[in-house]
Amino acid sequence: MLRANYHTHTVLCDGSDTPEAMAEQAVRLGFEHLGFSGHMDPDIHMDWPAYVERIGALRERYAGVLDVLMGVELDNVYDPTCCPGAEYVIGSTHFLDVGSPEPLSVDSSPESMETLAREYFGGDWLALTRAYYELEARVYDRLHCTFVGHFDLVCRFNDQMRFVDETSAAYLAPALEAMEYLVGEGVPFEVNCGAVNRGRKRELYPRPELLRALHDFGGQILISSDAHQRELLDGGFDVAVRSAIDCGFTEVSILAHDATGAVEMRQVALDTL
Ligand SMILES: [Zn+2]
Ligand SMILES: [Zn+2]
Repeated sequence: MLRANYHTHTVLCDGSDTPEAMAEQAVRLGFEHLGFSGHMDPDIHMDWPAYVERIGALRERYAGVLDVLMGVELDNVYDPTCCPGAEYVIGSTHFLDVGSPEPLSVDSSPESMETLAREYFGGDWLALTRAYYELEARVYDRLHCTFVGHFDLVCRFNDQMRFVDETSAAYLAPALEAMEYLVGEGVPFEVNCGAVNRGRKRELYPRPELLRALHDFGGQILISSDAHQRELLDGGFDVAVRSAIDCGFTEVSILAHDATGAVEMRQVALDTL
């Protein structure tokens, strides 16, 4: 079993457990590494200095037992200078900047997606998803992120709404273009179990066609539970490992502090998990 997670939310943003409770759960699960990734985005932004202090204290408390990392889930349209000292950055696209008074979320409700499509894309869902992937393609240039979060989040509500055929060339083409560009920049992608864990979607992010393409482009992966509660800290890891192997991957990346205290990326063979 994979004994690390880097996409972890707490009560300091929109999670339901404290950082301390998440760390206790990680130890219970036999984790070696736990990365916190509080949200910094137009809707949810934390008291950053308080977060730094709280996670720093946990890192000290668990020294030698659990490697605690302080990351951030930074949104593509948010201020990239908002989180000094973050040890890693998840680059996530939750919003579209469509000229509305505030950026509009693709991650809040089917109703808000409907409004976004109708009012800003004339009801053309493919135009909406294309705009999303055009923004997604720039996530590394904007944020210099450590890895890309939930690459195809734009389809979060597609299971219920069926607004696009996620297997069609028309939908996939701009996604693949963005993916190839990001792989060329050397940034890994997460395999995100959050939506599957919470019963929101049948498929992981990225869905199988995209995960297979990621492998074929030569991309690298991390596996994340995107946990908002302690019970789901390792939720979906078995499914993610199986999907990654099915798509041709042999290794998963993990983040760890080295002897000097710097964060490095290491590779773990998937068939040992
Ligand atoms: Zn997210
Ligand atoms: Zn998240």
